[in-house]
Amino acid sequence: MALLVMKFGGSSVSDAEAMRRVAGRVVSSHQAGNQVAVVVSAMGDTTDELLDLAAQVSPGVPPQREMDMLLSAGERISMALLAMAIEKLGVPAKSFTGAQAGMRTDTAHGRARLLDVQPARVRLALDEGRVAIVAGFQGISTDDDITTLGRGGSDTTAVALAAALDADVCEIYTDVDGLYTADPRIVPSARPVTRLTIEETLEMAAHGAKILHLRAVEYARRFHVPLHVRSSFSDKEGTWILVGRPLTEDTMEEPIISGIAHDRSLGKVTAVGIPDRPGAAAAVVGAVSRAGVSVDMIVQNVSTSDAATSDISFTIPETDGQTTVAAVRGLQAEMGFSDVLYTSHVGKLSLVGAGMRSNPSVAARLFSALAEAGVNIEMISTSEIRISVICDQADLEAGVRAVHTAFDLDAEAEAVVYGGTGR
Ligand code: ASP
Ligand code: MG
Repeated sequence: MALLVMKFGGSSVSDAEAMRRVAGRVVSSHQAGNQVAVVVSAMGDTTDELLDLAAQVSPGVPPQREMDMLLSAGERISMALLAMAIEKLGVPAKSFTGAQAGMRTDTAHGRARLLDVQPARVRLALDEGRVAIVAGFQGISTDDDITTLGRGGSDTTAVALAAALDADVCEIYTDVDGLYTADPRIVPSARPVTRLTIEETLEMAAHGAKILHLRAVEYARRFHVPLHVRSSFSDKEGTWILVGRPLTEDTMEEPIISGIAHDRSLGKVTAVGIPDRPGAAAAVVGAVSRAGVSVDMIVQNVSTSDAATSDISFTIPETDGQTTVAAVRGLQAEMGFSDVLYTSHVGKLSLVGAGMRSNPSVAARLFSALAEAGVNIEMISTSEIRISVICDQADLEAGVRAVHTAFDLDAEAEAVVYGGTGR
């Protein structure tokens, strides 16, 4: 008997009919002889609608504790309805809030981190032969307040539950047939990826692929949880994400490139005319990180006309633009640099694949594909299994398509997108 954690995103439980379809799927897994724990997201756009309501009654920044009370309600609605739908099909089910499922977090409302997971009640329900349903995205803090884990956090709940229950697999159900070589909404000829290493998945998620919450992937890597990302609208096998996949004869023939991720939510900050001396980069990046902003790509150029100064440019999440500019401006007088420039609407394209480690021609092929498509590269960064470039957001989609073709990733058939949100 296997123990499965099945996670359903908001687009899979968007209305009563979808809820009944999910119930049917859960019941078939249960009747096939598995122990089944389910994690659900809020129905459809519920979380956005709740955020919207909060903004209407409390413009600006609403009290964070109350915000978490509000948002956690979305997942409670789903868990109760799903439990009822499953019971209607003749299988006993019981729903649990994050707190009841033993999801203990820190006190950072809106972006809480899991500290400890003790799903004793879930385990008991499973041992009684029930389906256990856990509300995603939420927990209870060390101060006994309800917290949420950040947008998309139900994936993290599912992986954490799978780790704590020592589940055989964590199935992430969404509205596409798994991971693709590129976002099928941009590249209709994108191919489904059947297997991916956890490292590749981490790079994809960290660089804009929307299909899995980054923290969920980090958690899966740390606790060796096998993931299977698949569609709740079809029975097709999706993408298996495994930790420490061995290199066998069969995997050696796999393509060098696993996929292309893109991110269109970045901004770029440049501090111009910084005195060229030790400590300058540390001061700028330090000020930004103290402001709570995570810096992504950094480029420093020594100006050729006047070797005494340089420029430092870096990318940040677009939503942190104002905070970052303010933090850098705060250093301007003291450090004596001439200006702070900000560009929003910056795009990032990342090519990911474990096979590129030993293949030096990948970068050249990437850059020529972008050149042929007329895409100007503004910044470059690399890891062993990834090359990312920053470009104008307006060029991003054309760039992704050109690179997809250049690396022979195009499939004959068009990818199927069922619901449309990729969650
Ligand atoms: N309902 C939450 C959100 O929309 C959490 C999730 O769906 O994973 O962000
Ligand atoms: Mg959601």
